[in-house]
Amino acid sequence: MWVYIVIGIGVVFLLILCFCLAVANFSFDNFKEKRDEARRYGNSLDMTVEEFVEDVIAKHLKGNLKIETCEEYQDHFRVGAIALSQSTRRSNSLATFSTVSHELGHAIQYEKGELTKHWQKRQKNRLIGKFFLPFVILGLVFSILGLVNVLPFYVVYIGIAFFGLSFLIFLIAIYMKYLEIKIEKGASKYAIEVLGKYLNAEELKICKEFLDSARLTYWGSLFRTMLGWTFLTKSDKMF
Ligand SMILES: [Zn+2]
Repeated sequence: MWVYIVIGIGVVFLLILCFCLAVANFSFDNFKEKRDEARRYGNSLDMTVEEFVEDVIAKHLKGNLKIETCEEYQDHFRVGAIALSQSTRRSNSLATFSTVSHELGHAIQYEKGELTKHWQKRQKNRLIGKFFLPFVILGLVFSILGLVNVLPFYVVYIGIAFFGLSFLIFLIAIYMKYLEIKIEKGASKYAIEVLGKYLNAEELKICKEFLDSARLTYWGSLFRTMLGWTFLTKSDKMF
């Protein structure tokens, strides 16, 4: 009886592991595919991204956002401004509309006070993250020195305590990634709401699929953080 339960748990665990590895490895390819698809379509509005952004700022952000210029592929939101590259401004592809709307989604989040709290938390956790490697090294040093009798044996427990602390930091890193996904999901939700006011149903569907695939890469990044040590997937930055 117990043997079957153990085998069952083992199988379930392996299935979950396979699923996570699949997401970790393929979400980025899937994203590129959806992005290329969305790039092929222009929108029926006959509007450039710049005109669209100006309209959204006026209608949905009370005019409270400047438009700045940035390098290509660096489009982003920062407090008080949305930065767009020259080619982004001129584009009318659905891929660009989606990405820019996502950034406008962050601007809406900021307006609603959802972003500031998240940033404070992230800053604090990044500081904690800096202790990860030193704690692992201290864990190793104390354990080895205790085990080879250079120091009294009880320092092995100090080593284990440091390993415990670094594991805790690892869990915080995973939790932060999860919060990051929630923020990104929220920005894309606002993006779809805004896009829904401008695009037709078919165009909206393409944008939604593209933004969903972008979100999947955040899960991919989370699983890479969790499973990078297995060498079955690329590892990702912890913080
Ligand atoms: Zn984002």
